[in-house]
Amino acid sequence: MLNHTLSRACAALIAIPLIFAACISKSPVTGNTPLTSTSRASTSAFDIRSCIEYLASDALEGRGTGTEGERLAGAYIVKQFQEMKLSPGGAAGFYQEYSYVPKNPAQIHQVGDSTKLGMGYAKEVKTRNVMAFLDNGAATTVVIGAHYDHLGYGDENSLWTGERAIHNGADDNASGVACMLALAEWLSKKPANTRNNNYLFIAFSGEEKGLFGSNHFTKNPTIDVKTINYMLNMDMVGRLKDNKLAVNGSGTSTEWVSELPKIALTGIEPVFSESGVGPSDHTSFYYLDLPVLHFFTGQHEDYHKPSDDVDKINFTGIQRTVDYIGAIITAVDGKGKLHFQKTKDATPQAADFKVTLGVMPDYMYSGKGLKLDGTKEGRPGQKAGMLKGDILLRLGDIEIEDIYVYMEALGKFNKGDKTKAVVDRNGEKITLDVVFE
Ligand SMILES: [Zn+2]
Repeated sequence: MLNHTLSRACAALIAIPLIFAACISKSPVTGNTPLTSTSRASTSAFDIRSCIEYLASDALEGRGTGTEGERLAGAYIVKQFQEMKLSPGGAAGFYQEYSYVPKNPAQIHQVGDSTKLGMGYAKEVKTRNVMAFLDNGAATTVVIGAHYDHLGYGDENSLWTGERAIHNGADDNASGVACMLALAEWLSKKPANTRNNNYLFIAFSGEEKGLFGSNHFTKNPTIDVKTINYMLNMDMVGRLKDNKLAVNGSGTSTEWVSELPKIALTGIEPVFSESGVGPSDHTSFYYLDLPVLHFFTGQHEDYHKPSDDVDKINFTGIQRTVDYIGAIITAVDGKGKLHFQKTKDATPQAADFKVTLGVMPDYMYSGKGLKLDGTKEGRPGQKAGMLKGDILLRLGDIEIEDIYVYMEALGKFNKGDKTKAVVDRNGEKITLDVVFE
């Protein structure tokens, strides 16, 4: 999962809370969808334990984006897809390659050898999403994703202050990858009530750097995005405690609202939160106006530290989570394309800023200004009329050179202030009235 301190930019721009369990409400279980033994996703033959043991082993050196360890992890995931007889889902076989140039000084530092902090140049980082397709001949496709990169030996998003050490990321996010692969194996057998959708499985790279892999996919989709039914994201599902599973994005579809409360499973107490925006890859799909769900077993003291290890994984909990997600897939299988709805964001604002615009930055954009990848409903940016794709060039009398200048600019405003913003929309400069609140 993306660290809340990612350049402090994320926190400032979209006010991502580190612990978003604070704003979630527990919904009572009002119905019951009994699971038959054949519909249980945990009947999957996939070996979750050995998957996590491999991905989180020191041999993969923490799966840093663009590193050899991450490449090995990607090759392992391809092998699993092939054993399940799934089709390639990427632009070139099972891979969707992309690259980015780190902009953040800390990211430049992380690239290491060929770049130096403050030298003003950075090496391009090449990496890849890993994707497979399960064709059921259906009109719609469900995207099931989990990021497979982590922090390597620790990077700007590490919370570790000790000696340089491998960050194995067993929970973040070997657990989510294992969960996705278990679901893929189960779905590949075409069980009942799953065949009204095709499935696209995506192991995202570059999540920890700023949702780069999912962002790249949504801008370079390998299937028609209009045929995507909904997206399920598993990020940090390895530490089920007291049966509590956070299910974020429960307000992003009318069918989630009506169906999710009916799904009951012994050993899982879903804790719903409505917002489709959070510190992981589902956010990229929410901004395509698609229903999303993010499954999460909660924060812990090993988050983004070398101690996020296999010995602390709750394997029974992962099995139950797989079952629960399988139950959701079967519950909505006969409902056609789900109806998207926007959600109000209930998260608190970032502590260091009195105001925000409530906009999501495009981290892949390297030109002048701040390109917007989305706006949050009911927040000042959206209310002022800002749109996805706009490039913010000016706020008040401050020229917005980049994300850092934007953050400085924000610090100059208080609640209730009114100002003018200039955005570039398809080459046209448009002035908008912003009211901070
Ligand atoms: Zn993370």
